[in-house]
Amino acid sequence: MIKVNDNFCKLPGSYLFSEVARKVKAYAEANPTAKIIKMGIGDVTRPLCQAAIAAMTEAVKDQASAETFHGYGPETGYDFLRQAIVAGDYGKRGVKVELDEIFVNDGAKSDTGNIGDILSPDCKVAVTDPVYPVYVDTNVMAGRAGELKGNGCWSNVIYLPCTVDNDFVPSLPKETPDVIYLCYPNNPTGTTLTRDQLKVWVDYARENGALILFDSAYEAYITDEDVPHSIYEIPGAKEVAIEFRSYSKTAGFTGVRCGYTVVPMALQGVNSKGEKVSLNALWRRRQTTKFNGSSYIAQRGAAALYTSRGREEIAETVAYYMDNARMLREAMLSLGLKAVGGVNAPYVWVKTPDGLSSWEFFDLLLHKCSIVGTPGVGFGPSGEGYFRFSAFSSHEATEEASNRLARFIK
Ligand SMILES: *Cc1c(COP(=O)(O)O)cnc(C)c1O
Repeated sequence: MIKVNDNFCKLPGSYLFSEVARKVKAYAEANPTAKIIKMGIGDVTRPLCQAAIAAMTEAVKDQASAETFHGYGPETGYDFLRQAIVAGDYGKRGVKVELDEIFVNDGAKSDTGNIGDILSPDCKVAVTDPVYPVYVDTNVMAGRAGELKGNGCWSNVIYLPCTVDNDFVPSLPKETPDVIYLCYPNNPTGTTLTRDQLKVWVDYARENGALILFDSAYEAYITDEDVPHSIYEIPGAKEVAIEFRSYSKTAGFTGVRCGYTVVPMALQGVNSKGEKVSLNALWRRRQTTKFNGSSYIAQRGAAALYTSRGREEIAETVAYYMDNARMLREAMLSLGLKAVGGVNAPYVWVKTPDGLSSWEFFDLLLHKCSIVGTPGVGFGPSGEGYFRFSAFSSHEATEEASNRLARFIK
């Protein structure tokens, strides 16, 4: 018989989205005239901007003749895109990032999931709770998580609860982790850390020899001045942090697939012989072995986002979603619900009323308002009693959902 990786068998099925789909299907069948509004999606809904479409159309034409054809590209990305990133995402904010520190990829999910390849299986991992499930599940696959306990926590993972009790700002852990996943602006809560709050974590990582894996997939949604766009805005972060960026939420590239990871030259680890090792060199080795680069066409599309036309167009789309987020947030607050997010992120995170569980609130909204959201408990134990609404929807649907909620709660 074929022996499989037992770690994969420890993972429970992806219950959250299949259970949501099952309940919605049953409701739709029983209520064929109901107009169901889906506010649960974590995928964008607006089309790509014209600047990206034009650049990708040209790139497709390049592929049609031998003189301009592009086959395998550099594994870490074309210079035209990496130069645009260095200047457009970092230089502009006074952050110095080198070309060789940038690894273009097919999206942030791959790299946030794969980065563990270069870390010791013994590393102790900390995650904020609730959390983007990829961070936890990929550590289960790598054998770092231990066993799943009855309370929904993995025995070897350090959970950093983020709830109304701490204003969604995680406290430093009692037990020292080797690796800390931070995602800001946050999915699912939509909350952020200010520069001062993020500095606490950078300083902690420096003092404790920990690595911060910083996911800033929602960077484009930041509106507050004191919220950093990059962890490298914090002094000393280049010695302790890897940053993940994606064009998925920034520019609707969820179907195109392109993003990048920054692994600073200053970032060093240690091997079992006690020798210092460059994480940049290890990640380069990993990528050149297991990855053949993001497509030329996708990278041309991504580079076009840094032109003035591209910038304007993606800002319009972000503003469209953020209008929805504002509408949702205001609707929740006016109904007397506790709600965060929706200011620097396209998610609004709501405390369920009357002590309802996440799933009880889900059922209520579905059956009384024909609205679908995401039960917070699906993102981790501290998500119980919370609910996520997504702004990746149309103005019309968001307005209708807000009205239905208002009528229902009154
Ligand atoms: C959507 C999302 C990403 C981006 O994933 P891609 O693979 O780039 O599409 C990364 N991190 C978080 C937290 C996300 O919600």
